[in-house]
Amino acid sequence: MSKPRLRFAPSPTGYLHIGGVRTALFNWLWARKTGGTFILRIEDTDQERSTEASRAVIFESMKWLGIDWDEGPSAGGEHGPYTQMERLPLYKQKADELVAAKKAFRCYCTKAELDAQREALKAKDPKAQFKYPGTCRTRTDQPDLPYVVRFMTDRSGSVRYVDKVFGEITTPNIEQQDFVLLRSDGVPLYNFGAVVDDMMMGVTLVARGRDHMINTPPQIMLYEAFGVKPPEFAHLPMMLAPSGEKLSKRHGAVSVSEYSDTGYAPNAVLNYLARFGWSHGDQEVFSKEELTQAFSWEACGRGDGKFDAKKFLAINHEHLKTDKLMPSDEYATRTLPFLEKRGVTGTDAAALKRALYTIRDRATTFVQAAEMLDPFFREPPVMDDKAAEKFLVKDAAPRITGFRDALAKASEWTEAALEASVNAWLAESGLEMKLVGQPVRVALMGRTASPSLFQVLFVLGRETSLARLTRAAETAASR
Ligand code: GLU
Repeated sequence: MSKPRLRFAPSPTGYLHIGGVRTALFNWLWARKTGGTFILRIEDTDQERSTEASRAVIFESMKWLGIDWDEGPSAGGEHGPYTQMERLPLYKQKADELVAAKKAFRCYCTKAELDAQREALKAKDPKAQFKYPGTCRTRTDQPDLPYVVRFMTDRSGSVRYVDKVFGEITTPNIEQQDFVLLRSDGVPLYNFGAVVDDMMMGVTLVARGRDHMINTPPQIMLYEAFGVKPPEFAHLPMMLAPSGEKLSKRHGAVSVSEYSDTGYAPNAVLNYLARFGWSHGDQEVFSKEELTQAFSWEACGRGDGKFDAKKFLAINHEHLKTDKLMPSDEYATRTLPFLEKRGVTGTDAAALKRALYTIRDRATTFVQAAEMLDPFFREPPVMDDKAAEKFLVKDAAPRITGFRDALAKASEWTEAALEASVNAWLAESGLEMKLVGQPVRVALMGRTASPSLFQVLFVLGRETSLARLTRAAETAASR
């Protein structure tokens, strides 16, 4: 069997919605699993809403996610151009073919005429659905007037197809009308543009949200009119808000860029989205490779899913914790820009990597990792005034100094040696760690919450640790 050809066909009318990414992902996974081809096509025929900025966001978001395309803008390919507004002559040619074969016709009815007919029908029966009455079907003249091209819909019979997810679907043709293929300005309507492109690009499987299921019967009619075998179809359940509404901005972060900006790992985003409409036993955490191997249409369900921001964060945390899913080199490289955004400069990924082990279990995002790592790399660390006021008090000064001197005596600067030295000093002086812990923590990190003290000391190194303790002891003594 020849290798499948799949596509993702976003409209560049805003940000890249995570529901759209789920569609892109399933197509991409199948292409990668089967050695097929993944095409990116930009459907920009809604010229009022399509923008160059939105196109750029789509490319950028897909690159960030690691969903690469084999054919499409910038990748090229034999079936280009891959942007609909650059393909207008092709739609015209294909519409003319259907007109010549009497499978479509030119319709000269004006909007005002059709509106009047619709109003008249409404007046008679408010519930009636207006359908184009076929006025220009049999017209033979070709006046020099603007026209649209309409499909000559056979309203008898039905369209039947076997959806790879939803099974057999039969829709009576009586529900259809002579739908518009091409507007008078030569811009195709969605169904026509999509079919011409899918046909000419040799797409063998169309997978998209089930909100497009309504478009599939007219699309299949078009394939039949062209005498071309339709592709297979797989419709995917919807991603809903917790309330059951369509997931939108109101319900939280829905654009890919919000996830990159808030420190999610791209593979964690893919992992979370893969579980919408697809399952693999009770496994929740997947690497990208595991997803590619495990994905199948058979394991896609029909039930809509509800977006769960908490679970999304938990999956991200799982990825960030696990070296196999997020190698520390990559972790450091991804965290560095967030640290720089906080104003910490002059450090590098290698230094960051050495500090990672102190926070890896706890940071749920790279933003949080940067926040936790900040005091290691900022000189002096930002002081939490409340913590300083509470713990860097006069009484604490000798304890901070004692702790500092114990460290200075350690045989080597390792966690174990530092701990042994501090323990010896505590035993000798009769002090308890709980009286020392918070003041030295504030002295070293400027805050009361930090990784374990000995990890902090080890990562900061001898010179910085001793200097910070000396400075804090001076502050405390001067209170
Ligand atoms: N441009 C359409 C959309 O963004 C594509 C639908 C399809 O995949 O056929 O919804």
